[in-house]
Amino acid sequence: MIRLVIFDLDDTLYNERDFVYSGFMEVATYLSNKYGISKNILFDDMVNILNSRGRGKIFDQICEKYHLKEKIEYLVELYRYNNPNISLYEDAYKVLEIFKTKYKLGLITDGYKGAQWNKIRALNIEKYMDKIIVTDDYGKDYWKPSVKPFQIMLDYFDVKAKETVYIGDNPNKDFIPCKKSGINSVRIIRSIGDYMGIVVDEKYEADYRIKSLLELEKILEEIQ
Ligand SMILES: [Mg+2]
Repeated sequence: MIRLVIFDLDDTLYNERDFVYSGFMEVATYLSNKYGISKNILFDDMVNILNSRGRGKIFDQICEKYHLKEKIEYLVELYRYNNPNISLYEDAYKVLEIFKTKYKLGLITDGYKGAQWNKIRALNIEKYMDKIIVTDDYGKDYWKPSVKPFQIMLDYFDVKAKETVYIGDNPNKDFIPCKKSGINSVRIIRSIGDYMGIVVDEKYEADYRIKSLLELEKILEEIQ
């Protein structure tokens, strides 16, 4: 019987793209006010670079294109610690409302701690979660696929791995610790998401795959 349900955050409970765009707009507004360049043009440039070349050097390329003398680290901080305009996926909101009285609820999320806590507050999900672990608060060796944050969670609630389920979207790291420790795992594959197309070796793949979190209710009742 399942007693503890743990969720991943990014792209599981909300669309991470919304956070990225919110951060881009923050940086675009700052640069626009300082240099008089249209913030919409700057924003579109950032999105185009993201789509064509991925993350990593977006602000470097913007500064190069417009000959701006900016500290990239400062722009990254503006991006990371912006007050994000994000909201829960509708199915996430619904299952959290249903599950809050039926199970213990936890959150395990990777990413820079300041940014992750900003997202948690913007989504207003502290009210649902009995325990939140931002792995970065503990240090880099607690990031997934480490089993350490999962062990902390099990100890905190004093539940067994087989009474626990983790729901995440990234097969590169989300389910490896579950497999290692015997925690049930569910992969959410949405129509939008960085990892929807990823096929992984059986040993990294989740026990269940779903397209909507609303499928969870039945699955959790089935797990004995
Ligand atoms: Mg994720």
